[in-house]
Amino acid sequence: MSRLDEILAKPRPDPDDLAVLLGADAPTDQARVLAAAYAVKVRVVGPVVYFRGLFELSNLCTKDCLYCGIRRSNQNVERYSIPVDEILTGAGWAYEQGYGSVVLQSGERSDPAFVDLITELVTKIRALSHDELAITLSVGEQSEATYRTWFQAGAERYLLRIETSDPALYRQLHPADHSWERRRDCLRLLHSSGYQLGSGVMIGLPGQSTEQLARDILFFEQEKVVMIGMGPFIPHGETPLRDAIRNFAWKRHAQLALALRMIAATRLYLPDVNIAAATALQTLAPDGREQGLMAGANVIMPNLTDPRYRSSYQLYDGKPCLDESATQCRGCLEGRITSLGETIGFGLRGDSRRFLDRNIGVATRGASSRGQPRAVENTGGRGEGTEIHDRGRRREYGVKIS
Ligand code: SAM
Ligand code: SF4
Repeated sequence: MSRLDEILAKPRPDPDDLAVLLGADAPTDQARVLAAAYAVKVRVVGPVVYFRGLFELSNLCTKDCLYCGIRRSNQNVERYSIPVDEILTGAGWAYEQGYGSVVLQSGERSDPAFVDLITELVTKIRALSHDELAITLSVGEQSEATYRTWFQAGAERYLLRIETSDPALYRQLHPADHSWERRRDCLRLLHSSGYQLGSGVMIGLPGQSTEQLARDILFFEQEKVVMIGMGPFIPHGETPLRDAIRNFAWKRHAQLALALRMIAATRLYLPDVNIAAATALQTLAPDGREQGLMAGANVIMPNLTDPRYRSSYQLYDGKPCLDESATQCRGCLEGRITSLGETIGFGLRGDSRRFLDRNIGVATRGASSRGQPRAVENTGGRGEGTEIHDRGRRREYGVKIS
């Protein structure tokens, strides 16, 4: 029996097994790792894909991450901020289409006007959706007071990628005034403030090893991350890391394969988390996000940003769907997903199973149509078809996980 056979025969890989899974790059081995992860996904979270409508609010950013196309030093970007009423119109459309959740993402700012803007958007989106749309924020490092203000306003989930769990590698990717420790501390503040905590890393960074990626997965567990958004690193031509991976064009296939193994290894090790199939996968292959779903991801973030802003929010070269409207995006994705035999969780919030199971019996804020706290029932976390919570006009049901 090979080491891979032994690992795949276990109910759950051990920490020491993760680097083996991540290094299983022979085509047959890779196919077995991905198939095992897909089976776990179907058993634990179901063959359901949750949509989160993504709004790229603004590309103004005070930070200067060396890999990012909208870093403050890039002078060749037309800066924009989408007006509040346009975002609200888009969020209303998402609600009517049955999206259970929206994501508000932008470059990082922490000035009072920005804090107020996010508070206003969160408050108004909750109101227009009768408290039903779950809101994820992805707007960077903030103070504890700010995180709590936004949580009180109605944001329930927050995505802050640690980028890499290795502080030394982080320092190579950021200017000296950016701090890995501060980012890790922000994750802890978000958790203690009550958010469903999301984080993630870039995969295939220059100089990154499979051992470091394995430690990233352990970091997610250690920091109580329940939503994971991670994707391949893709160079941007106007950043200092433009040539950090030599002959990147020839390495796209290997970069995609590694990203898929990272999704699969994460699903095998943390079966009940939500994992997004990042848009960056689609840059490496037209069906990259579908491949992500077949490797164990269960979330997709259709881009609802108006096409006239999208080309100014290019984090990496080759961002797909730059001129596609939200309606076109939905139609295209629906067809692709149903062809895989998966269903789309329209009308469902798609809370992280791991988050719900860990908060059993605890009343969490939000989500009833009358704005009352939602009671999360003690389901034991195991019953097929068990009602997890009642959201007024929509209900969600658990999926058998053992
Ligand atoms: N500004 C916020 C922050 O940094 O947390 C949220 C938006 S930021 C654009 C979202 C993510 O984009 C980052 O966490 C980073 O992982 C990713 N990103 C930026 N440049 C990238 C690149 N060249 N390749 C792949 N992902 C990239
Ligand atoms: Fe700004 Fe986020 Fe890009 Fe860093 S990754 S430069 S914080 S938008």
